[in-house]
Amino acid sequence: MKAMVVEKFGAPLVLRDMPEPQLRGPYDVIVKIHACGVCHTDLHAAHGDWPVKPKLPLIPGHEGVGVVEKVGELVTHLQVGDRVGVPWLHSACGLCDPCLSGWETLCAHQHMTGYSVDGSYAEKVVADGRFVGKIPDALDFAAVSPHFCAGVTTYKAVKVGGAAPDKVVLISGLGGLGHMALQYAKVAGATTIGVDVQEHSLDLAKKLGADEVINAASQDVGKTAQKLGGVDIVIATAVSAKAFRASFDALKPGGKLVIVGLPPEELPIPVFELVLQGKSVIGSIVGTRKDLEETLDLAARGLVKCNYAVEPLEAVNDIFGRMQAGKIEGRMVLQIS
Ligand code: NAD
Ligand code: ZN
Ligand code: ZN
Repeated sequence: MKAMVVEKFGAPLVLRDMPEPQLRGPYDVIVKIHACGVCHTDLHAAHGDWPVKPKLPLIPGHEGVGVVEKVGELVTHLQVGDRVGVPWLHSACGLCDPCLSGWETLCAHQHMTGYSVDGSYAEKVVADGRFVGKIPDALDFAAVSPHFCAGVTTYKAVKVGGAAPDKVVLISGLGGLGHMALQYAKVAGATTIGVDVQEHSLDLAKKLGADEVINAASQDVGKTAQKLGGVDIVIATAVSAKAFRASFDALKPGGKLVIVGLPPEELPIPVFELVLQGKSVIGSIVGTRKDLEETLDLAARGLVKCNYAVEPLEAVNDIFGRMQAGKIEGRMVLQIS
């Protein structure tokens, strides 16, 4: 089968004819992939940016959506022909404390699609059937694909942040994740401020109903937001520790900085202000299967939509280049079959 493969960190992905994935156990399914969104995480993976490295060679992609082609002998909730998506959380043990307390995303024994196991920049993928999400009938493949990472991740972060009608939420970084975070904050009834360094991303945020926008390239984010009254919650998706610091300065006393973006840098947070102003900083990683179900429900009801464009699988290196240059409006989705 055709796949785009990372063979060496920092080198372009290579189009390869790879062996078709096989069922590894009784709960597995084989999914024929129709589309897969390109997440900035895939770029980090291809560059080997993070302390824990992915497997090599690697087929990235954790927004893969398609049709179930084969099911393992103990799979009862899925049938051949079902439309599903294969998220980042490939599997978790189901037995540890985080798994048992509703935090399977923190399982130390988890596998990650397109990172510790091969993902969906390919014609087929093997998934643990217990962790795939069923696609609502109303949604087509390309449109639903980004909900499997950008959507569920920011839905969860907005939940963790506690967005509500009386809260002001600032979204730092309005790319694939951020433009969806903005919509979840609005669904929660919050007042929203969008921050980016690209004018086109700020325009998209305005189109999606942001109450205010701030251009971090030309304005001081902390001071500008404080002049607007300060913010209760930041959803930080920018790939920049400097941006995290700037949005920390935008918080009201007692405010919460929810970090989602994963730049390979240290976090420059001043302890004195953190303590005296009772602010908090928290990380948020993707979402559980329950979060995914809720995300897909919001998508099916038309409450949150991804702004996306479609290109062929082979375009991924070019897309990575545009992603690094900040030239993408929302999400790019690879059309695979
Ligand atoms: P993206 O490239 O689509 O978006 C990043 C956005 O940040 C762009 O719009 C860019 O212009 C903007 N930006 C850059 N510098 C900025 C600054 N100084 N201030 C404000 N905005 C700035 O990336 P994405 O796919 O949305 O992913 C964002 C990050 O989130 C990546 O690091 C990715 O690995 C991470 N991620 C985390 C999780 C998680 O579960 N925590 C899940 C998916 C992705
Ligand atoms: Zn992702
Ligand atoms: Zn576990």
